[in-house]
Amino acid sequence: MPRLLIPIESAAAETRVAASPETLKKFIVLGCSVAVERGAGVSSGFLDEAYASAGADLVAPGDAQTWGQADVLLCVQSPSPTSLARLRRGALVVGMLSPYGNHELSEAMKACGLSAMALELLPRISRAQAADVLSSQANIAGYKAVLLGAAALDRYFPMLMTAAGTVQPARVVVLGAGVAGLQAVATARRLGAVVYVSDIRPAVKEQVESLGARFIDPPEMEDKPAESGGYAKQASDAFLAAQRQQLSDQLAQADVAICTAQVPGRRAPRLISEDMLDRMRPGSVVVDLAVAQGGNCADTVPSQTVNRKGVKLIGANELPCSVPNHASSLYARNLLALLQPTLQDGQLTLDTEDELIAGCLIAHDGSIRRGDVLTPGGTN
Ligand code: NAD
Repeated sequence: MPRLLIPIESAAAETRVAASPETLKKFIVLGCSVAVERGAGVSSGFLDEAYASAGADLVAPGDAQTWGQADVLLCVQSPSPTSLARLRRGALVVGMLSPYGNHELSEAMKACGLSAMALELLPRISRAQAADVLSSQANIAGYKAVLLGAAALDRYFPMLMTAAGTVQPARVVVLGAGVAGLQAVATARRLGAVVYVSDIRPAVKEQVESLGARFIDPPEMEDKPAESGGYAKQASDAFLAAQRQQLSDQLAQADVAICTAQVPGRRAPRLISEDMLDRMRPGSVVVDLAVAQGGNCADTVPSQTVNRKGVKLIGANELPCSVPNHASSLYARNLLALLQPTLQDGQLTLDTEDELIAGCLIAHDGSIRRGDVLTPGGTN
């Protein structure tokens, strides 16, 4: 019977938890036993009693014996190497492990003989959708980014006809129309804003327009950035310079810019420069979701709001943590969807030939399988 362990998350500002009482019950039906560290779900609104009634054993946080008996550690972010060393050899760690160029993680996997699934690396194929943590969390980030932008703006979002006259709708520019960007478009549209969108993947245009937003066609250049597996590849410096020039006028008229442009495993493309900020209206707002990857916008700082000549720059790197109940519920369902097929007849078996497992299994029993990603400078 596989023994699952749900730890208290140790990363600063992390409020999520990797299992909900709902998913825990289902893991038990699938033949697992589950240990939950006391208090693990408190910040997400899941109390110890709810886990206990769902069938979990409540255990003391960091207890060496409990960690040593676990077959699978379900986490949101990776525990420290010291904590990982408490697991038995051959145990499986499943979570958002920040694998890109993560030498420390690679060394910990080797030293402790662990297996690990880094959920950032799940292939973006239809079969993976129910397990796609990047999507479930990015959706929340896109939604919350617009709420933060609207709350910080010195204007209304919707057009209003009032006795004192007509108020024009806010103008929102969304940079990057992946999962977070499209949710930002939908949320801003629901609040009544006029929305413009920039992305470099042509396939996005139709999705953007179907949400009632206007697409800004990327610059016409020969060295257009390529695309692989639905992701954008890194754009050249010349392309980004042309794109910034094109966006400068749009941003000068914008009330809110929501920055979600990313290239997996790379520094985020710089799309708003200091000069462009100088042209933005005092009172306008930039919400930068890419701030932890270097930022789409100049001068944004993780977890801080900077007032730059009247323009509010919101460094929004931890938005899913600000909606922890739904973020955890959806994340927990993603983990259940991923692991359910591996749990047959009360045994956990990893089919390393399966495309989903092979994509995200960065280490197996201490041997590194995705050195291409874990090596510093590596990407997928
Ligand atoms: P992401 O977070 O890596 O990037 C966000 C967006 O930034 C992307 O749309 C990208 O094209 C854009 N971008 C990159 N450089 C840019 C630039 N210079 N200017 C403007 N935009 C730029 O992407 P994501 O949200 O994780 O989604 C990536 C893709 O995966 C999408 O096509 C999405 O539809 C697809 N997807 C597939 C599945 C599935 O089938 N399982 C699930 C979710 C997402």
